[in-house]
Amino acid sequence: MKCKSIIPIILASVLLLQGCGTVTEPDPPKEPQKEEETEEFDPESIRPQDDFNGYVNAKALMEADITEHHGSTGSFEQIDDMVDDELDTIIENIVKGNRSSYAAGSNEQLIYDAYYQALEASTGGAFMDEEDINSMFKTVEDIRNTASIDEFLDICGRIYSEWNVNPIFGTSIDTDMHDSASGSIWIRPFQCPTGQKLEDISVGGQMAQVVAMYFRTKLVDLGMDADEARQKSVADTKLIMDIALDTDLELLELISKDWGAAMQTAVYRSDKEIDALCPNVGADGILRTMGIGSDMADGVYLWDEGQLSGIDSLLTEEHLNEWQDIAVMCYMKSIEDMLPKEYGGHPYLYSNDMLAKNMIKMLLPKELGEEYVRNYYDEDTVAAVVQITDAIVDEYIVMIDDCEWLSDEGKIAITAKLDNMLYFIGADEPHKIKAEDAKLIGHSVYETKHNFNMRAYKDNMKVLKDGVERNGFEMMAPQTVNACYSPDMNSINITAAIMNAPFYSPDQSYWENLGGIGAVVGHEISHAFDNHGMMYDMNGNYDPSWIPEEDRKAFEEMASHIEEYYSEQRVLDIHPVDGELTLGENLADISGVDCILRLTKNNEQRKELLENYARIWASVMPKDDVLGQLYMDEHSPAKVRVNAVVALFDPFYEIYDVKEGDAMYIAPEDRVTRW
Ligand SMILES: [Zn+2]
Repeated sequence: MKCKSIIPIILASVLLLQGCGTVTEPDPPKEPQKEEETEEFDPESIRPQDDFNGYVNAKALMEADITEHHGSTGSFEQIDDMVDDELDTIIENIVKGNRSSYAAGSNEQLIYDAYYQALEASTGGAFMDEEDINSMFKTVEDIRNTASIDEFLDICGRIYSEWNVNPIFGTSIDTDMHDSASGSIWIRPFQCPTGQKLEDISVGGQMAQVVAMYFRTKLVDLGMDADEARQKSVADTKLIMDIALDTDLELLELISKDWGAAMQTAVYRSDKEIDALCPNVGADGILRTMGIGSDMADGVYLWDEGQLSGIDSLLTEEHLNEWQDIAVMCYMKSIEDMLPKEYGGHPYLYSNDMLAKNMIKMLLPKELGEEYVRNYYDEDTVAAVVQITDAIVDEYIVMIDDCEWLSDEGKIAITAKLDNMLYFIGADEPHKIKAEDAKLIGHSVYETKHNFNMRAYKDNMKVLKDGVERNGFEMMAPQTVNACYSPDMNSINITAAIMNAPFYSPDQSYWENLGGIGAVVGHEISHAFDNHGMMYDMNGNYDPSWIPEEDRKAFEEMASHIEEYYSEQRVLDIHPVDGELTLGENLADISGVDCILRLTKNNEQRKELLENYARIWASVMPKDDVLGQLYMDEHSPAKVRVNAVVALFDPFYEIYDVKEGDAMYIAPEDRVTRW
């Protein structure tokens, strides 16, 4: 889908399309340029034989309003805005209600209290009261008062549990790559706490100066003398530059481009191996920065061994002062959106009501999601999507069996993995209300956020202690307009929110729905068998040997043709698609459409299916964003997702009488196949 095929459980949140995850003012929306729009341009002059996407979508897109906070428009944005309005309505109804009728710890009570707290705080301009400011200074003082690296590790553990940021190591808790039922510790590369990229800092220069300036400002905000702050900020930046020099910059690039591929480069290291790699703090020291003891885990997954060892060599008393500043910076950054102006906080430009609503969306996604489902979830819709999914899964079995490049053994393995896949469609059952959750709302926004962070931390530790529950609903909130496949759970998640037109509507024909939500389901299933998915077995464990070697080779051969085919696609006439970067998504697009077309019986059905398939990818965005997407997004641009896919299938040629010489025409021998 529009999302990545994601691996670790805590990544689901990065896939949100809407920017409601902050209480600060967002960037103003960009002015989109409707690239195809000129004064004389007539969208109805576009022939399907030349540009199927334009033929289906241009007219509607030219008439569509650019949605306010996306800076672009299209099917996704339109549904997203609609869902956002629905969430607003839910909040409005709850906060208009009678507080005393809400049970302690219920979704309504939490939403009601968090809303009025944020509303009141924004009116008075204080997310932190005097008590919080004192507590902030106490935390800073505690960091500064650490007398040794040993003591410093423990204070890092406190910051990590309270504010979800580890000042030293990029620790997180994700699924164990080799045992998908367990949680394990992962150490991602260290990131500069001010947000600058390590690759830009490693050589010094302007970016390093920006980092130093950040530190200096923050230190002065906290009351340090300007001269001292300047000197310290230079030393702090120098330490970060030293870390950057030990960092695998190619890995950083891979992470930003292709998370799934980067995950697979991680290596497991036992406590003993970590002790050898980090003679200063050892495995025990790393765990202490997470606030846990050595009985909680054995070994970690490591992304950048060189960097870890470099950081360890810098964790000496000689650098204690710099590390303290880094920890202070991490802490201050994590509370930045609540800080009063005099400590470097931002002024709030939202209307208070909007700010309070956004706070609810960010802080209480689970509670709000359950209310969304209660108000807007339609059982008939879900039943219809489940039925479509069943038909698609059945057809996948036939499609795999018909595949020419798979051996018999390979077909059995693929079918077994398909058989073991779980389908999370719609939304989970609501959670059990606990009266004690009422205490999550503290005396101020600051304390409330702190309490929610602590809850998330405890949930994470539970994963480490008790293992991973194979619940794909955890991947994405039901109010997220998206879908995903999880390799470590071998499951797909189709959210409640994506079951809206043009993806699904009871007013659309079965074939249109098949071209919409059906294409999504077919797409997500394919991720189990793409270049990343092929590395994980039917239980979600990393083990490329689950499928015979000859089939893996045959898969790579097939994939290389797809890669080549997409590398020849152009955007805005001249810019090539990166066939390697987008391979997994392209395989999924082709696979999905291949499968749903096989479920049709005649060209009338296929026409409805193909045209609605194009409709789900309707999209207009600024040229710069389209070009940026080419380098960073593992999805092909929307137009390519439509045109490059439909042009591979015979019915498209039959229905629209596509002939040699038409822009969409591809000679039969050049039409690549996925299965
Ligand atoms: Zn996808």
